[in-house]
Amino acid sequence: MYKYPLFLFIFALILATLNLGFAAQPKTSIKKKHLKIHGVQKTKCTSCDDNSVSKPLIVLDAGHGGNDEGAKVHGLVEKKITLRTTLLIKKALETHGYKVHLTRSKDSFVSLQKRVNIANQIDAILFLSIHYNSSKNNTAKGIEIFYNDSSELWRNKASRRLASCVLNQMVQETGASSRGVKKGNFFVIRETQMPSVLIEVGFMTCPEERAVIKKKEYQEKIAQGIAKGVDRYLKA
Ligand code: ZN
Repeated sequence: MYKYPLFLFIFALILATLNLGFAAQPKTSIKKKHLKIHGVQKTKCTSCDDNSVSKPLIVLDAGHGGNDEGAKVHGLVEKKITLRTTLLIKKALETHGYKVHLTRSKDSFVSLQKRVNIANQIDAILFLSIHYNSSKNNTAKGIEIFYNDSSELWRNKASRRLASCVLNQMVQETGASSRGVKKGNFFVIRETQMPSVLIEVGFMTCPEERAVIKKKEYQEKIAQGIAKGVDRYLKA
């Protein structure tokens, strides 16, 4: 008599294990599928408890950090201003429904190789590196965005289009002058495997622009412009 309930119990246990196996399957495939198609779809996955699975993942790279201070002009330090701006961009992108990963979130040194590895290993769909510019000519000002064209054709084209979408929206949002989309051979945009750009937000060496770029309100506009540009790029 007692053998029957035991049999039922084992049967139920096998069923439960099988069910778990099946339930886990769609989670992985949905995530992979979304990332493969560049995360443009933002369909919610009803079988997942965490909606972030379906959010496109973007890597933001705050230039410099730690011993590498970047440019230093009249007390303004590039590594600090890139991090502040990057944190605002993260917030703006999250508001637009994207998931953001930072290569650094504090004042620490991260090698260029490590920055690239982070983006490549987590299957990010886009990579944006944030920098501030400097020039011997202190009248030089405005925004310029670099992309690299030494990898496969699709990535070269995608990076150029991303640069152009972001630049247009940044200029619209801030009223800053555009110095255009340019080809650049920077390590982080060359070695990453997804569409990548390096944004030179403004010139620390131009007194007029320096006064503006250090203000939080201006950096907020920069962040909004970049988030809108990314949105335009992904939804086009
Ligand atoms: Zn820099």
